[in-house]
Amino acid sequence: MALDQKYPYHSISVDETLEKLQVTKEGLTDEEAKKRLHDVGPNELTGTEGINPVLLFLKQFKDFLILILFLAAGVAWYADQRVDVYVILGVILFNAILGFLQEYRAEKAILALKRMIKQETTVVRNNKARTVEAKELVPGDIIRLEEGDSIPADARLLTSKNLQTVEASLTGESLPIEKKTEPLPEKSNLGDRLNMLFKGTHVARGTATAAVTGTGNNTELGKISKSLSDIKTTSTNFRKKTERLAKQMAVIAIATSVVVFILGYYVRDYAFEEVLLITVATLVSSIPEGLPAVISIVLAIGAKRMANQNAIIREFTATEMLGSVSVILTDKTGTLTKSILTVKRIFLGNGKELEVSGTGYAVEGDITLDEEPVHVADDPVLAKLLFVAEACNNARLLDGEEQKENNNSGDADKATGDPTEIALLVLAKKAEARNEDIFPEANRLDDLPFSSEQKYRATLVDGENGKELLAVGAPEKILELSSGILNAEGPQQLTDELRQQIKDKLDDWADHAMRVLALAYKDVETGTNTINADQVKDLTWVGITGIVDPPRRGVQEAVGACKSAGIRVMMLTGDHKKTGAAIAREVGILEGEHVNGNYPDALQEDELEEEESRFDELVDNVSVFTRVSPNTKLRIAEHLQDKGYLIAMTGDGVNDAPALKRADVGIAMGIRGTDVAKDASHIVLSDDNFATIVRAIREGRIVFQNVRQTSFFLLTTNFAFVFVFIVAIALGWPFPLTATQILWVNLVTDGVMELGLAAERGHGEIMKQKPVARDANILDKSVVPYLLLMGTVMLGLSLAVFSYYLPTGEEMARTAVFIVIAMTQVFNTYNMRSIDRSLFTIGVLSNKYVNIAFVVSLALQLLVVYTPFLNNIFRFDALPLPDLLIILLLSSSVIWFAEAYKKLRFGSQPADAEEEEEWMKDKPQENEKV
Ligand code: ADP
Ligand code: MG
Repeated sequence: MALDQKYPYHSISVDETLEKLQVTKEGLTDEEAKKRLHDVGPNELTGTEGINPVLLFLKQFKDFLILILFLAAGVAWYADQRVDVYVILGVILFNAILGFLQEYRAEKAILALKRMIKQETTVVRNNKARTVEAKELVPGDIIRLEEGDSIPADARLLTSKNLQTVEASLTGESLPIEKKTEPLPEKSNLGDRLNMLFKGTHVARGTATAAVTGTGNNTELGKISKSLSDIKTTSTNFRKKTERLAKQMAVIAIATSVVVFILGYYVRDYAFEEVLLITVATLVSSIPEGLPAVISIVLAIGAKRMANQNAIIREFTATEMLGSVSVILTDKTGTLTKSILTVKRIFLGNGKELEVSGTGYAVEGDITLDEEPVHVADDPVLAKLLFVAEACNNARLLDGEEQKENNNSGDADKATGDPTEIALLVLAKKAEARNEDIFPEANRLDDLPFSSEQKYRATLVDGENGKELLAVGAPEKILELSSGILNAEGPQQLTDELRQQIKDKLDDWADHAMRVLALAYKDVETGTNTINADQVKDLTWVGITGIVDPPRRGVQEAVGACKSAGIRVMMLTGDHKKTGAAIAREVGILEGEHVNGNYPDALQEDELEEEESRFDELVDNVSVFTRVSPNTKLRIAEHLQDKGYLIAMTGDGVNDAPALKRADVGIAMGIRGTDVAKDASHIVLSDDNFATIVRAIREGRIVFQNVRQTSFFLLTTNFAFVFVFIVAIALGWPFPLTATQILWVNLVTDGVMELGLAAERGHGEIMKQKPVARDANILDKSVVPYLLLMGTVMLGLSLAVFSYYLPTGEEMARTAVFIVIAMTQVFNTYNMRSIDRSLFTIGVLSNKYVNIAFVVSLALQLLVVYTPFLNNIFRFDALPLPDLLIILLLSSSVIWFAEAYKKLRFGSQPADAEEEEEWMKDKPQENEKV
């Protein structure tokens, strides 16, 4: 029997819902889920994916340029040049095909990027919780949600704990909404259905279980909208730059064409139709029609390369923005450090300091006192600490089978949950492995999960010792909330003297880069069955644990690379001041004793607030901020942006979303990050690693360079080309090429060669230069020498061969000019592979796409010149072979002149291969193709 996805589930009770959906709290069986998936299809919004090739092809004919070409065809018809008409129509078709192919590739790349962003969700099936892709959900599935999750389907709430969701994407209401489970009147509005959860909205707080009632297009979101996680195409800094570039190029093209017309018609008296045709042809070939598509392809190639480096681009233009990043605001845990936390030390309320051996999440190690193993049974304070560590904990160690499912053997796959909690759990298990039955039986009654604002977590248990509240959190916070301390004789008064002793220990450990957590408990009345933050006070202090979290491999080198690349790195962390500073020093964010004579090397948020008046000054000079709240992160980011910096910022939690959105490049953590953070970001790091950001920045700089080089190529060739015409006309010569020949040159050079340039790999010391300025134009004065060079060489050679062959006939002369103009452009591609580096240091043949384009382009030229039928249409004459070779050789002089210029201007450079730094090569760099 098919399930009714439209039923008003909000009007019935939890039990009725389960019955109606034919499911129990243990979830569906795998077979049933499979069957339902087969019946209702995947949980995806359809109609949003896919490219329609026909529409895309037809779209090409809407192009402004095509209109001009049709105009040209009209002129040719009018001038009774039938062959020209066909040729122009052919060119239109060819152009459309080329444009189609370029855009198709770009669109496909965008689609591929979208598919890389998978949404996962926790579902209960066969009474076991597991993670599946959201698209596998079916009606009747029981899902579990927690803070930061985005809701994968429409669902009826079954149980909830402090649950609040944000439904702005659906209803426009931006404030979090408290949800409850009771049935509601059938007529309730969407916004009032407090017992329902909707696809596309997210959990701002709390936890819940719910039964899926609608999937895919049967969700409320499916009804109103057709696209969910569109790759955003908002007008960014980069968009502005490319729009300006397109305008500049169009102005140059139109202005020069006007000059051609005026010169030809008014000054030199060529026939009107002839001049008009030539003018239209020069206009068509000097407008860089391929530019937008080529830029998309440059971005797509960049995005693809970044993905190979583990940085997944959610917003396309972020690829280029990365190249301009001048400040990185990074968090600590997991990004700079491994986030495989291990407890190494314990300091108990009774004054004993213990050591713990073992590494990572392996449950192998001893607790020792002065190198002698301790028996937990002999020390009730230690026993209590271990009990709190295990019971006030939401992490879980995975059994062998589950680890296999994860098909990886790394530490990260040994457990699930918050790494801090895993560390405490592993500690407890180490003790348990050696001492049987050390923990009293206890049932969990309620739980208050960790939040960055509160900085602790608490659990209510009922066990052998009666009802107890257990708490774990940042030590200053727990110390503040404690009034007693546990020692061998039982709970004692927590004196100032003891507080001081604890604080000294905290400082000492934090100086050693240890993350310190405090554990405490209190007895509660038997009537208590739930807990809230108000009850977490008057605790009895049990002890602290010192946790190490070593820096990741490659981070130190990456921080170093940022420094030489003119990028400032700042650490904003929720951790303790000294722990933060110690890690910052280890990875090189802090150097020496103090960053800046008068300033502290790390500041805590409250110190920053006290110095409100000096806020700006401090942000400019201090690189480590600790115990910061998401709000302060946002303020720091805004201040830096106001100063003109382009900011990349990392984040993982729900509260980081505003700052991620605000940053120029918001970077979410793929492993640790919440769905909310990922949705708000421009880039997702699939390995959570800081070094990945830096590699991505390097690729971003290459993207900018490639855009620049490609547009330099287009501008220099177009300019030189029109220049030849203007001079020839001014001298009163016949037109060096006919209109159709012009159009063909344009196709075989512009249309083909620029694609090769889009795939250029960066050269030289990319990370030794300053970031591209936020407002740097794509066209700048470094193009001028190349304009002059191309202009002179192309003009000189064209005029020379034209006058040399003119006695043999106009057709032969035009053929020679055609080869010169086409080949100087083709050779110029090699110049534009790098603006400042010699072709011989970057490797003559190292860009295979340029080489392919070279061959294709050469073949297309020989085709029209030497095939009898075509050379008739285009009115070419078969140039003798030796002459052809000589002209090819002469045309290659653009390279020799450019090499001479590069040598004079930039000096000699070492070859590329010798400059790549080791850590950059860490990742495989294949799969270039888009
Ligand atoms: P960060 O992860 O950058 O250190 P957080 O805001 O996550 O910043 O953590 C702030 C502090 O709260 C930590 O230094 C630690 O003392 C404490 N803490 C972090 N996670 C947990 C947790 N799961 N349970 C209890 N306390 C925690
Ligand atoms: Mg954290």
